[in-house]
Amino acid sequence: MNETNDLKSLSQLEDEVRAFSDERDWGQFHSPRNLAMAVSVEASELLELYLWSADGEARTPERTARAAEEMADVLICLLNLSSRTGIDLQAAVEAKLAKNEEKYPADQVRGQAKKYDEY
Ligand SMILES: [Mg+2]
Repeated sequence: MNETNDLKSLSQLEDEVRAFSDERDWGQFHSPRNLAMAVSVEASELLELYLWSADGEARTPERTARAAEEMADVLICLLNLSSRTGIDLQAAVEAKLAKNEEKYPADQVRGQAKKYDEY
């Protein structure tokens, strides 16, 4: 990844994803329902890479490359969905992180995997 890519915002990536879709006239298939399902399918493809593997199993360059592709697929589907619904994904992530800060104060939950209503 070069420096230019490091500085790309989510909205710039969203523009690139939208252009890719527009060039192929795929927007007609991109209903929020279809895109939400696509997010789940791509997340499942990511999960499949780890199915039946042990936690300590060695990471191979091939598996890492395949995981990167599936993670990219998930994000591309999310960017298509945010574009279609008009949801500002960057703002949504920032808002959710702020909410999580309140739900999970670091001084109360550090080192614990409990849900917010269990501590
Ligand atoms: Mg995929």
